Amino acid sequence: MDFRLDYTEDQEQFAREVRAWLEENVPEGLEPIKDVKKMSMEQWEKRREFTRALGKKGWLYPRYPTEYGGGGLGIDAHFVLIEELAKYDFSLPPLYDMGILCAPAILACGTEEQKKHHLPPMFRGEVLTWQLFTEPEAGTDAANQQTNALRYVKEGDHFVVNGQKIFVGSYPSKPEQFYLLTRSDLDAPRHQNLTSFVIPADLPGITVQPLDLFILSAFPATTGPTGANIEGVKHTVFFDDVKVPESCMIGKEGEGWTVTTATLDVEHGGGFGGATGNWVLEGFFEQCRNNPAVLKRLRENPQLVECVIDIYTIAQIQRLWGLRNASGVGGFYAGPQLALFLKISGTRIAPQMAKVLGPQIFADEGPWNMENSLFEIGQRCAVALAPGGTPESYKINISRALAMGR
Ligand SMILES: Cc1cc2nc3c(=O)[nH]c(=O)nc-3n(C[C@H](O)[C@H](O)[C@H](O)COP(=O)(O)OP(=O)(O)OC[C@H]3O[C@@H](n4cnc5c(N)ncnc54)[C@H](O)[C@@H]3O)c2cc1C
Repeated sequence: MDFRLDYTEDQEQFAREVRAWLEENVPEGLEPIKDVKKMSMEQWEKRREFTRALGKKGWLYPRYPTEYGGGGLGIDAHFVLIEELAKYDFSLPPLYDMGILCAPAILACGTEEQKKHHLPPMFRGEVLTWQLFTEPEAGTDAANQQTNALRYVKEGDHFVVNGQKIFVGSYPSKPEQFYLLTRSDLDAPRHQNLTSFVIPADLPGITVQPLDLFILSAFPATTGPTGANIEGVKHTVFFDDVKVPESCMIGKEGEGWTVTTATLDVEHGGGFGGATGNWVLEGFFEQCRNNPAVLKRLRENPQLVECVIDIYTIAQIQRLWGLRNASGVGGFYAGPQLALFLKISGTRIAPQMAKVLGPQIFADEGPWNMENSLFEIGQRCAVALAPGGTPESYKINISRALAMGR
């Protein structure tokens, strides 16, 4: 296992190419964003422009097959892209709703026709996709879908969808499509009664209603360059007799759970989580090293050094674990293990940082202020355990790895 953090010669050569391209192609005026709740619509549109430029270059989906418009690159190149974009404080993709949670399922379970139809516009960054899984009675237990996707026998070639999805979407710009999990059979056993679709978001009978939530992101998503998903900006989507053409189905009828599992494998830690820098922690260590007031607190309260060491150890584990997973040697269920660790780490790190930095941390100016109120953002988001799945949903997956789960 190679835990090198510096580039090899080949990687450095590609990094130079990436840097030169970024120099030319980052849209003028596009700002990195640390607190997504402060992002303006104008900045959001600029991100979209940047996303399209990356898509045109084949770098939005760097490792996906070129025949569908992906970059056809290897894991090294993908990692270099992530690192170089992170230097500009951008994530890859720069916008969350680019279908990163939908494309893997289409690739794994879609027909050739579906891949050719759906993947190229997603890879070019032309469409936004919201993931519509959660229902009022189906969160951690995602298989407990209540939405009905009953074949409308009289017309034969489409389904009629009725029901409600909740906690979905993000920034209030309508997406082009929805990635939808539905219950398609009222009688079939659990896990064999679901069907997945990718549908146009403007089908008649669909209503999108904003949900007023506390603005946050999941802690792991906040600590590095963000995908600019304003996770606290969510929606309820209602379906009233929505006619969904059969051609929108992904995989076969009744195989929705297989399609969903392909998605959850990616969502629950299949990416580069933890592998890149962690802004909140870097900002914290910077304070511990260079802020005279924090140094004084540490000198006068040696027990606080224990907290700093604990946080430092967590940070190292996150980074190395992330690198291990990103390089593909983590094996099955490595994603949920890391995702669980990252989420739980937030709840452990946030109160320890508060102890070390003291009450002044909430000051929004002067020497106590971590850049862009980073500390406040970290505190706010550490309490969010539901986005992307509760810790319990990860534990269910891990118990499968231990041959103890369902
Ligand atoms: C900010 C935000 C963004 C989101 N984005 C999306 C999105 O884009 N698309 C989408 O489809 N969904 C999204 N969700 C929904 C998210 O996936 C669900 O909130 C999550 O899966 C939890 O489901 P729930 O809210 O129904 O809570 P529940 O599953 O009802 O959980 C409630 C509580 O019970 C606990 N619990 C549940 N099951 C067990 C168990 N078996 N054992 C022990 N304890 C358990 C949980 O840990 C939790 O504390 C988002 C949610 C939030 C808050």
